Amino acid sequence: MIPPIARRFVAGETPAEVLEHARQLRADGVKSIVNLLGEHYHDPEPAAEDAAAYRRLVADIAQADVDGCISVKPSQVGLGVDAETFEANLGDIVATARDEGVFVWVDMEDHTTTDATLDAFERLVSEYPRMGVCVQANLKRTRDDLERLVDLPGKVRLVKGAYDEPADISLKGRQAVNEAYEEHLEYLFREDGGTVAVGSHDPRMIERAIDLHGAYGTDFEIQMLMGVREDAQVELARDYEVYQYVPYGDRWLSYFSRRVMERKENLVFALRAVASA
Ligand code: FAD
Repeated sequence: MIPPIARRFVAGETPAEVLEHARQLRADGVKSIVNLLGEHYHDPEPAAEDAAAYRRLVADIAQADVDGCISVKPSQVGLGVDAETFEANLGDIVATARDEGVFVWVDMEDHTTTDATLDAFERLVSEYPRMGVCVQANLKRTRDDLERLVDLPGKVRLVKGAYDEPADISLKGRQAVNEAYEEHLEYLFREDGGTVAVGSHDPRMIERAIDLHGAYGTDFEIQMLMGVREDAQVELARDYEVYQYVPYGDRWLSYFSRRVMERKENLVFALRAVASA
């Protein structure tokens, strides 16, 4: 059972719980990106199990009364085994998603996975364009990756980057990453290579995207995590397309710990919840 304290960031352990959360979001005009928690598998069995769970989830989303899509971590469906296993499992998920008409996002993990993730995405998105991939502003290579991605179908989610990367291949410091984020955002809107997904809670980046949409007319959507600036999500959804990234599953502990440790506000929230329990 997920303790109440973790329920701010994780919708539940079962598909039924996450779909109920997605229904409630829909009532507020917010769409859902559902993520089954799991990552860093090095054996084929758990990767195949999670791929099968994603295929069932896709069918459930298609049947349910929700505005939902999925987001998959490469190392959850086989990239830690080898690139072939990853692409085969992701391909099976995408085949089910195509049958059911559900959009598929591919999360981006640390820099050792970027090439294999983009290669698999490129091959699969040319057969099923209702896909998107995440890229990280903190990596120096990202402008080159964007030049490749704007010529492909599908959406691009731009995030600042969650992984602590080696100094020679990444930007260090908040200001450098913010500047890169704004430059990449401008490039994506100017090139108009498909819907731009702004994966950020940063009011400055969201304002910038709204301005760039005004200047270039390129479609965009805003994506934020469950439990973070949820009032802003509902408010923004009155005027823009907003998605909430909603994790679920029994492997919630490490995800919850990351959310609590990444910001002082989240740590304070967790300590208050423990104190009042
Ligand atoms: P930050 O620089 O963390 O914060 C900027 C400002 O945002 C703050 O000053 C504050 O005003 C506001 N803010 C941020 N957090 C809070 C809060 N808890 N409460 C109130 N205000 C807050 N990373 C990856 O590496 N790969 C992925 O596939 C990936 N997918 C993601 C998908 C989504 C939908 C989102 C939202 C993020 C994803 N990330 C991913 C994480 C991302 O890389 C960042 O680590 C994370 O979003 C924090 O950066 P930020 O842009 O929100 O801004």
